[in-house]
Amino acid sequence: MLVNALSVDVEEYYHAAIFRTGARDWITRHVESRVERSVDRLLALLREHRTHATFFILGEVAAAHPAVVHAIVKERHEVACHGDRHEDVSRQTRPEFRADISRAKARLEDLVGESVIGYRAPNFSIGRAQSWAYEILVEEGFRYDSSLYPILHDRYGQPGAPRFPYEIWRNGSHRLVEFPISTARLLGVNFPIGGGGYFRLLPFGLVRLGIQRVNAREQQPVMFYLHPWELDPELPRPPMAWHHRFRLYVGLEKEAVKIARLLARFPFGTARDVLRLGGRGEPTTRDGARSGLDTSG
Ligand SMILES: [Zn+2]
Repeated sequence: MLVNALSVDVEEYYHAAIFRTGARDWITRHVESRVERSVDRLLALLREHRTHATFFILGEVAAAHPAVVHAIVKERHEVACHGDRHEDVSRQTRPEFRADISRAKARLEDLVGESVIGYRAPNFSIGRAQSWAYEILVEEGFRYDSSLYPILHDRYGQPGAPRFPYEIWRNGSHRLVEFPISTARLLGVNFPIGGGGYFRLLPFGLVRLGIQRVNAREQQPVMFYLHPWELDPELPRPPMAWHHRFRLYVGLEKEAVKIARLLARFPFGTARDVLRLGGRGEPTTRDGARSGLDTSG
């Protein structure tokens, strides 16, 4: 049976882009860390379902809360990198981007004691104009990226991009595999079934059908993502515009139940395992990482 990839973007609730634009002043006065308790909740849920996941951890969160990283490693999940300060790649220069990812990678590797080979950009912020980032990722030792979301969205998304793992950059033997966030394609449109706010908003049955379709009909693994704060219904609620409030808080009460249903219904594992990459990013099968095998959109 096809195994899908489960990923977690480990950050504080106030790293969410909407929160930052919607309530920036409030954050600076009320900032309260909630990452430890929400990661604990998620780790318990994964333990219950005997599931391993890839945790894309923010460098500054790892530095402030090393216990969170240790707890994740202890349960044999994969540690990957979500950048250092949650700054969109599209707002950074090339040297700034290199400094951000190498600082985060070093912080994580110090805590984990092994290579960190996966990267996800904050807010999926590697657009076509930032494709220079792939070369830098490879030079800094990353082997796969999961920052592409092939949907139409007001802030991110590339609806025409490939939907399944493929080689996005290569120079000689150095290559980078892209594992896009999953979509189900229906009537020529990509529907978001890969998690985040859409998962909270959409009925579970619809997402289940989408994942089933990708697994059975297209014979491809799904990349699903969530944030620890989505399992925290007691998230502080500062004043903000209603549309920001809706996106951030919709479905928080039901999220843990929905995630449990998802884990009961489909097999999930780490991105590294689904891509068949070894500890240092080397392919573990003769045909290599899934990568490069499929470039169909
Ligand atoms: Zn993030």
